[in-house]
Amino acid sequence: MTETTNKADTRHQRVAERGSHDFDLACEIIDAARMCHVGFTMKGQPYVVPMALGRRGRDLLLHGSVVSRLITNLANGLPCCVTVTHLDGLVLARSSFHSSMNYRSAMVFGNAAAVTDAKEKITAMDTLVEHLAPGRLADLRKSTPKELNATTILRLPIETFSVKTRSGPPNDATYDVDLPVWAGVVPITLEEGNPVPAPDLPEGIDVPDYL
Ligand SMILES: Cc1cc2nc3c(=O)[nH]c(=O)nc-3n(C[C@H](O)[C@H](O)[C@H](O)COP(=O)(O)OP(=O)(O)OC[C@H]3O[C@@H](n4cnc5c(N)ncnc54)[C@H](O)[C@@H]3O)c2cc1C
Repeated sequence: MTETTNKADTRHQRVAERGSHDFDLACEIIDAARMCHVGFTMKGQPYVVPMALGRRGRDLLLHGSVVSRLITNLANGLPCCVTVTHLDGLVLARSSFHSSMNYRSAMVFGNAAAVTDAKEKITAMDTLVEHLAPGRLADLRKSTPKELNATTILRLPIETFSVKTRSGPPNDATYDVDLPVWAGVVPITLEEGNPVPAPDLPEGIDVPDYL
């Protein structure tokens, strides 16, 4: 099953000036995301699976059930590509050709490995929790050994990666600028809503400040 992904081509082709291989920028994009898409090929069939993510230093972290097909195969060395995307705006030009999107996205290629050291695994799980809901970890009861055994944590080194971003107004052709058509950017943001208490939440437990 093990196959190296060193052959991943991370050179930007079209609109290469929007591309980068800046590690800090990649981390910024990863850290701002609550989910990613994990791509891999099995028996010639590509799959792209949405998942939660986290980051610890130079490793992107994923987690899942020990019986998950995706997790088991990735832990066994199946190459993968993890993509993180933020849609920041609709870029409405005067023509469909020049219309675009503002975005930040990162792709990380490689071979993930299961975190096997017990302490490291707990730290990685804590990192995932804090990534999704900063401040939450302090409120949670500790995971039981049974729960830890039921979960696999994967670490994917952020080594072979690429970043691409677009920001700013439309780039209309000069001959389109005088057309009587509105042009500009419609910003798009992902917002957290007001917390909804669980139906079985005992009375007197307030929404924590971090939410
Ligand atoms: C926002 C989000 C975050 C998630 N985070 C995690 C996570 O951190 N860890 C985790 O293990 N799982 C997560 N999931 C669920 C994940 O997408 C998979 O469903 C799950 O990992 C099952 O994997 P598997 O290999 O066992 O699936 P398999 O049993 O291999 O899947 C079999 C088939 O089921 C279908 N299928 C599986 N998942 C999906 C899906 N999400 N949507 C549509 N069809 C599907 C596909 O046809 C697939 O080929 C998340 C889902 C979403 C939407």
